[in-house]
Amino acid sequence: MRNFFLDREQRSRNAVRAIAACAALLLAALVGTVHAAAPAPLPTKLTLTHIAADKWRADYVFAEPITAVELGAQVGPYRKQAWRPLTPGVELVADDGSEAMRSASPLTELSVEISAYDDFDEGQYAPIDRFSDGGWDFYLGFLHGALTQDDRQRSMDVALHLQGLPGETVIAPAKPGTELTGYAYFGPQKPVRMGNVNVIIDPKAPAWLREVIDDTTTKVSQYYEQAFQRDLIDTPLISVAVVGFDGAPGTFNVKGGVAGGGITYRLQGAGLVDDHPKKRAYMARLVAHEMAHLWQVNLMRGGIGGDDAWVHEGGAEAIMLEAMRATGIFTAEASDQYAQELLKECDQLAGDVTVNRGLYACGFKRFHGYAMAPMPLWRAMMARSEGSGEFYSESMIQAILKQ
Ligand SMILES: [Zn+2]
Repeated sequence: MRNFFLDREQRSRNAVRAIAACAALLLAALVGTVHAAAPAPLPTKLTLTHIAADKWRADYVFAEPITAVELGAQVGPYRKQAWRPLTPGVELVADDGSEAMRSASPLTELSVEISAYDDFDEGQYAPIDRFSDGGWDFYLGFLHGALTQDDRQRSMDVALHLQGLPGETVIAPAKPGTELTGYAYFGPQKPVRMGNVNVIIDPKAPAWLREVIDDTTTKVSQYYEQAFQRDLIDTPLISVAVVGFDGAPGTFNVKGGVAGGGITYRLQGAGLVDDHPKKRAYMARLVAHEMAHLWQVNLMRGGIGGDDAWVHEGGAEAIMLEAMRATGIFTAEASDQYAQELLKECDQLAGDVTVNRGLYACGFKRFHGYAMAPMPLWRAMMARSEGSGEFYSESMIQAILKQ
């Protein structure tokens, strides 16, 4: 039932970026006398148009001719099944687990048609989440790639345009970053304000689920704003797609989390139908945990880096529990009980903060044990991270605790 997969994805992407940056620096140092710098990013206009109920067209316009878009890791059979290059001479090719769109001759315009796709792979973003009312969350990061020009590669400097069907609501991610991380929403709904965030909930969501999301989002987002003494820089969209009620009775799964400055959930399973206090508590914790990440990255610079993942995951658990107690969503007994569960889980993991569940349980245990309470500690971490640009880390925490 637990699936905090996007957290993991975000970390690994950050790590990859950090490694890539180091490699680029090293390369620049080695060839420094020959080439002054890496080639500048190539301005690229990318228009994603919703062209039919279950089809999109991505139109790339490059400032200079290119011969390939290197898309990176294969996303299961997604691109092979759902993508169809429309530009003559362009082929979608896969080698060694990587995919690319290659052209026989240099071109400045490239179009690809993309059809609805309902599967996803563990460890990767779900490409497209289908709402029950004809709405969609479309992951933009899979459109991003490196551009091949002659014998060199240039990164893509994207100007993104989204175009919906007539009358359709279209919402771009608040902070897609340079790699288009994040989901775009296309669909019939208008977002509803809850606290200080915007929310779209699938109309098929059962009443109990809607109630929990509404109540938790409203109260906890207001609590975070006041407790962190920080408004959100952007207004994030939290979108909740219910993709089906099939599967074993009593269970459901949630995929999703923070991406591109918003939160995207994809819920599925027969267990969504019936209300139960345990399900309510689980969803409330999840919503408050993911929203804690929104504030952790709500900085002009710094924030979550590639190392010490237990800091932001265990930190989000500690922040979440403070919020649940302060807002009255959990009684003091209920929040103590959950804290005890995490502490016990960490003991069973022998305190290991590197294994997946240890990030949460043992990360929480560390925050639980610090002399400073989670909210003032995180306020100090946010101020320090934004001030210096350094990422959250254990050494940052130790420096704050020593002051
Ligand atoms: Zn998390």
